[in-house]
Amino acid sequence: MKDIKPPYAFASKQAVDSDQLLSAPWRSPRQEELDAPLGVKGPKATKGAEALGLFSIGDLLGHFPHRHEDRGEVLSISELKSGQDATIEVEVRSVETRRAWKRNGLILTVATVADHTGPLEAVWFNQPWVGRYLKAGQRLVLHGRYEGKARFRVVEHEGGGAGASDVTTGIVPVHPAADGLTPRKLRELVASARKLVGDITDPLGARLLVSLGMPDRPAAIDAIHFPRTESDYEVARRRLAFDELLGLQLDLLGRRLRRDGAAPAPVIAGDESISSSWVESLPFTLTGDQVAAVETITAELASETPMTRLLMGEVGSGKTVVAVHGLLRAVEAGHQGMLMAPTETLASQHLRSLEKLLAGTPVSFSLLTGSTSAAQRRETLDRFESGELSILIGTHALLEPDVLPARLGLCVVDEQHRFGVRQRERLSSKGPEGKQPHVLHMTATPIPRTLALAAYGDLQTLSIRELPSGRQPVATHIVEGAAARARAYERIREEVAAGGRAFVVCPLVEASEALEASAATEEYERLADGPLKGLRLGLLHGRMTSAEKEAAMSAFSAGETEVLVSTTVIEVGVDVPEATVMMVENAERFGLAQLHQLRGRIGRGPGGGICLLCGAKTARRLVAMEESSDGFVLAELDLELRGEGELTGVRQSGLPRLKAASLPGDLEILEQANRVAKEILGDDPNLLSPGNCMLGLLVADSASDLAPDRIVA
Ligand code: ADP
Ligand code: MG
Repeated sequence: MKDIKPPYAFASKQAVDSDQLLSAPWRSPRQEELDAPLGVKGPKATKGAEALGLFSIGDLLGHFPHRHEDRGEVLSISELKSGQDATIEVEVRSVETRRAWKRNGLILTVATVADHTGPLEAVWFNQPWVGRYLKAGQRLVLHGRYEGKARFRVVEHEGGGAGASDVTTGIVPVHPAADGLTPRKLRELVASARKLVGDITDPLGARLLVSLGMPDRPAAIDAIHFPRTESDYEVARRRLAFDELLGLQLDLLGRRLRRDGAAPAPVIAGDESISSSWVESLPFTLTGDQVAAVETITAELASETPMTRLLMGEVGSGKTVVAVHGLLRAVEAGHQGMLMAPTETLASQHLRSLEKLLAGTPVSFSLLTGSTSAAQRRETLDRFESGELSILIGTHALLEPDVLPARLGLCVVDEQHRFGVRQRERLSSKGPEGKQPHVLHMTATPIPRTLALAAYGDLQTLSIRELPSGRQPVATHIVEGAAARARAYERIREEVAAGGRAFVVCPLVEASEALEASAATEEYERLADGPLKGLRLGLLHGRMTSAEKEAAMSAFSAGETEVLVSTTVIEVGVDVPEATVMMVENAERFGLAQLHQLRGRIGRGPGGGICLLCGAKTARRLVAMEESSDGFVLAELDLELRGEGELTGVRQSGLPRLKAASLPGDLEILEQANRVAKEILGDDPNLLSPGNCMLGLLVADSASDLAPDRIVA
């Protein structure tokens, strides 16, 4: 078990601490048994153990197998069939090591072995040391393949005899191994440590276990190594996965409780004169999702519990309108607001949005970025500090210590994942005396539920899924084969003839902009001389200068070129309402999220659009694109297809490596852990009660791996 002294989160406030419980004289699981050194012999094995992070018996029992082999029954030699993988138990009669005469350098160790049904020749390839220690009369368990003609090719052998059967036959574990410490050696070590599972502490109480229908932890640890059946294994794995995820949830939710409890937020309630007449004055009516988001935010601003919400919706779904409503609520209640974006371009875009949206209101706002002149900056900050200026829009420049709002009520953070935890703390410190501001995060990249739960605990989200009316859906088709491709080019010609414009997106070349650029250039030439001959083609790729890119883009947007052959550089910030068709070459190379982003570039005008994806009709990602235009659905599926490797690879997710749990597959267990963690923390937020304090062990296990850069949680 890991060290649970500080920085273990709860230790300082704990009335009954877990160290104390672990060392209590009357306690029957004895921690010191598990703390005993592993005791492997020889420098190579010691190094191997070190590489695996195994130092004590406890570490060893916590080193779970990554798979099991079902070796089934021990067969007798007379039962073996040619070509069969089998396990036999034999006695060695004689041993001989020789070089194979046919094949170069191959060393064979051949032993004559026998059981009560007869003799057999057992063969090892290239393991000359085997011949040195096998002795006549020795008993062995051999796993391998019977090749017929009384010859058995050994894959693995172990010492036979009484007591060894669990290790060598039936369902046997295969543990992650290292140089000097083979799976076989590990299996033997774990088998001999098994008798100490009773010294493992179960952090969950009997009442909880019964209600969850789970085995106790010692039994689960025993069974994850040496299950008797497949279902034994799965029950054990689920229990250990639960522990892992519960520790994670207790940690995340506990941090959040402490943060929320650190200081209250200003109560933003009452008078709605500005915001309600502003909503009336908008040239459109809010969609249902927008109304729901506005209502939730309004209610949460009226509480002194600091709001932390993540507003998710695609680019153009109308998040800014929702955010501005919140800012107006703050202003009309006598507070100020900030709107922070990760880049100067985005911040200026927000300034322009507010100029448009707030034109008829008395609300003052201003922009502050790194390129604001010193004089301008001073003046803006003075106005903000005096309370005369209501809303400040900007970049990271807003986080500077001399930005001192008089009565900050709400911060809106756009594209939250681009900011870090420390920046989050600086924001919180800008609240009025003794208070922290409410925070609304916005993102155009939906976070799948699994990730939201696993990485953030209970990330409170608001989703805008309905697009504002007027946006037409894009029809998506998979293009496979020469005939379909010819039709696709025909379709492009038709769209262009009808006044539309087309993107042709060239294949993604991982990590090589140069290759990508040359592929795009080749494709441009091929299309200009062939399938799209006669149309006006433009070219856009990452190797062009910004001036060249600008020129290519404006020619396309003005209609001077009708088809833009491009790499993925068009993913960001291209808005050409006349673009109605997009053809993506080698679409299988792109991730789902990326394809969805690309597709968002068309269908922005009144006429809708067509997206043509070149690839196999059966490719799951492409089929998903055909079936759904919902970024939220696609984000979930993306995670499912890419799996946990990707999920844990997402640095911002702050997700530790999981040993027993596997996400997104274990979503159900994750939800259970989230629910239980909330119940426990609801009654006992610092895990102080004797019944809960052992849970700190799980928290300590999970906390060690948390990434530092999460802003929302
Ligand atoms: P986001 O911030 O999500 O990218 P915006 O709030 O900037 O989206 O909205 C994109 C455009 O759609 C803006 O021009 C905005 O005025 C407009 N818009 C927002 N909500 C609606 C709506 N309910 N109906 C029609 N147009 C809307
Ligand atoms: Mg926006």
